[in-house]
Amino acid sequence: MKVLVIGGGGREHAIVHKLSKSPKVDKIYCAPGNAGIAALAECVDIKAGDVEKLKEFTLQNNIDLTVVGPEMPLVQGIVDEFEKEGLKIFGPKKDAAAIEGSKYFTKQLLHKYNIPTGRFKAFEKYQDALKFLKETWHPVVMKADGLAQGKGVFIVENFIEAKEVLDLMMKKKIFGTAGDTVIIEEMLFGKEASVFAFTDGKAIVPMVSAMDYKKIYEEDKGPNTGGMGSIAPNPYFDDKLLKEVMDKILKPVINALQKEGIVYKGVLYAGLMLTKEGPKVLEFNARFGDPETQVVLPLLKTDLVDIIEAIIEEKLDKIHIEWENKEAVCVVAASHGYPREYQTGFEITGLEDVKGAFVYHAGTALKEGKIVTAGGRVLAVTAIGDSYKEARDKVYEELKKINFKGMYYRKDIAIV
Ligand code: AMP
Repeated sequence: MKVLVIGGGGREHAIVHKLSKSPKVDKIYCAPGNAGIAALAECVDIKAGDVEKLKEFTLQNNIDLTVVGPEMPLVQGIVDEFEKEGLKIFGPKKDAAAIEGSKYFTKQLLHKYNIPTGRFKAFEKYQDALKFLKETWHPVVMKADGLAQGKGVFIVENFIEAKEVLDLMMKKKIFGTAGDTVIIEEMLFGKEASVFAFTDGKAIVPMVSAMDYKKIYEEDKGPNTGGMGSIAPNPYFDDKLLKEVMDKILKPVINALQKEGIVYKGVLYAGLMLTKEGPKVLEFNARFGDPETQVVLPLLKTDLVDIIEAIIEEKLDKIHIEWENKEAVCVVAASHGYPREYQTGFEITGLEDVKGAFVYHAGTALKEGKIVTAGGRVLAVTAIGDSYKEARDKVYEELKKINFKGMYYRKDIAIV
């Protein structure tokens, strides 16, 4: 098979890495890919959001299967466009990807079908939102309805802060049309957990659980990031909780979508708050998460191509998905200054010395034959072991071999 993977981050590197192990796969292309992916796949210079060009490339190169990494092309409807041409592609169609593309759509769906989530109100008019914010209790959570690259959520403590955020979204339009509708939501308290599942729109099968580390500094201090590390399985997630999440959230949401006439095929990722009253939905994503994929996929024993094909053919219930009985740890190395201002273009050395772990590239590029930094989160080192400690020790040992100017990583990942 010839496979095309769309995207160019650590998540896509983990997908490409897994696909490269399938006996069914002869050749992998990745658009746009990155310097690490280039060792396993032919990188194609097409942006993940350029649906037309991607379709053209797929048709011209007789690609047998396309796997979509990021949310943007899914929400834009890449799956619908490819299927119109008879092309095989893995991911939800546009109507199903709205579960990530529109927080308003999701909140309405959850409330209609009594699936646990925080109370909310949605506003399209600035004055109405302002009036509500003046009268409501605080803190509240304010969210842009549409995609905002993970930056569209604000916890506000009082009316003054709330007004500032509302001005940014509705007047200054910092998120463009994604902020045309603003969601104001009840603040939920508890520990967060995310659950990934494979679904073909009928059956839904959870993956091994994972946990990510969102804050930039140790002890979970400082601003949120795209993720500074991850571990799998999630030590705080047991079978009892999984059953509750399956029964109260994941199965009901697939049924709810079905009742609305929507067939969800792909990866469904639930962001949850484990509150005193039980797990509640914070958000859904229509794809794999980053950097959780970098610990989840290395533990997958079953051929990923078999799972993808079963989902596309709506036969997920016919396949038994197996996981390694091991533990995986991933630590992200970032550029100094991230998640705020940072510089790029610095040479990364020592990559070839890493032996006991796998380096997933995120923000890297090839420049004059050298691998250089090209983003805030630069790379993620993953190791597997019989315990978190064994995996963790390997990761930190290997990280010592890698160097670039301003390299920063948390030292407390996987201390559980
Ligand atoms: P979301 O993209 O909706 O998951 O929001 C991103 C992050 O904001 C979550 O991982 C939580 O840390 C936080 N968050 C979102 N909604 C709420 C809420 N209703 N209560 C408390 N925290 C929230």
